[in-house]
Amino acid sequence: MNIVLLGSPGAGKGTQATLLVKENGFAHISTGDIFRAELSNNTALGQKAKAYMDKGELVPDELVVDMVNGKISSLTDVSGVLLDGFPRNLSQAKAMEGKIPVDLVVYIHVDKDEIIRRLSSRRLCTSCGNIQSAKNGQSCDKCGGPVIQREDDTETVIMNRLNVYEEQTVPLIAFYQNQGKFVQIDGDRSVDEVYQDVSAAVERFS
Ligand code: AMP
Repeated sequence: MNIVLLGSPGAGKGTQATLLVKENGFAHISTGDIFRAELSNNTALGQKAKAYMDKGELVPDELVVDMVNGKISSLTDVSGVLLDGFPRNLSQAKAMEGKIPVDLVVYIHVDKDEIIRRLSSRRLCTSCGNIQSAKNGQSCDKCGGPVIQREDDTETVIMNRLNVYEEQTVPLIAFYQNQGKFVQIDGDRSVDEVYQDVSAAVERFS
């Protein structure tokens, strides 16, 4: 079963993906995480992506699509693929058609004001990747590692990422709604409440 998690930056896609992977054995493909890993390993792809990520722009489609295709073709023995942060526009969605059939699109909706609040106070654990709020302090709730603010979680870049989301990613909602495999979930609730609806949707479509 192949699932696309759709939603604005900060809607909670990564958090829900982690829970789904733990329970269902899906392979998690987060294009943002892959680019950040490439960057910390100082690869050519990471360096190319950095210029776009720093500004909150999308990395060019050809780089993203090739990277995702490579990841998917290297997978063996998984119960399905969970795409998180991909596709991000119609051309990526169309490039993916035929390569990997999408069975379900889970759209996590959160109002823009709440998104801005979340992104501005979001902190990332550099050891385990846990996401938490700045009000939880300087060390990770899960592993005690150091937490940082992502470079693209600063005010100017947040606003640009949200504009890019409205212009390029929001059209995917109608695209997938028309295909009858689309479930919208209210993401402005506790992680557990959102997860109950996400896993119910996965069960319904499996
Ligand atoms: P994320 O962690 O999903 O918010 O992604 C962080 C950044 O990585 C984005 O602002 C983009 O610059 C880049 N990125 C992640 N996924 C994609 C994608 N599917 N297409 C283009 N750029 C992406």
